[in-house]
Amino acid sequence: MFAKAVAVSLLTLASGHLLAAECAVTVDSTDQMSFNTKEIVIDKSCKTFTVNLEHSGNLPKNVMGHNWVLSKKADMQAVSTDGIAAGLDKNYLKDGDERVIAHTKVIGAGEKDSVTFDVSKLKAGEDYEFFCTFPGHNSMMKGAVILK
Ligand code: ZN
Repeated sequence: MFAKAVAVSLLTLASGHLLAAECAVTVDSTDQMSFNTKEIVIDKSCKTFTVNLEHSGNLPKNVMGHNWVLSKKADMQAVSTDGIAAGLDKNYLKDGDERVIAHTKVIGAGEKDSVTFDVSKLKAGEDYEFFCTFPGHNSMMKGAVILK
C-alpha cells in the first residue's frame, strides 16, 4: 500500500515536470571550440528565457574564450565580423549592436555567465541563431534557436 502511494506520487511529479515549460538551458563550451548543443527550443509559454553558459575546458579566455550571442540567423556573420573589430575587452561585440538580441560576456575555462531575455523579442517563423563571436569560432560554434 505504501509502495503504491509512493509510485503514484512519483508519477504525478514526473508528469507535472513534463507539462511545465523549461524556460532555461545550460550550455557548455569546450577547448575543442564547440557548444554541447546545436539547437535550443524555447517554449512560447516562457515570458523570459535564461541561458547559463559554462566552459568545461582548461584554456583561458584570450586563447579559447566563448560567449553566447543570439541574433537573427541572417545577422550572424555581420555581428561576428563587427565583433572581431571590437575586441576581447568588448566581448567581441560592437557597442550597442541592435542586431544582438541577447548575449553573455566572453568566458574562459571554469568561468560562467548567464543572460536572461524577453521571449517576446522573438517572432514565430523567423530563423534565429546562437553563436560565439570569438574570432574564427562561429564556423563551428553555432546552432538554431527555435520558438515553439
Ligand atoms: Zn568560442
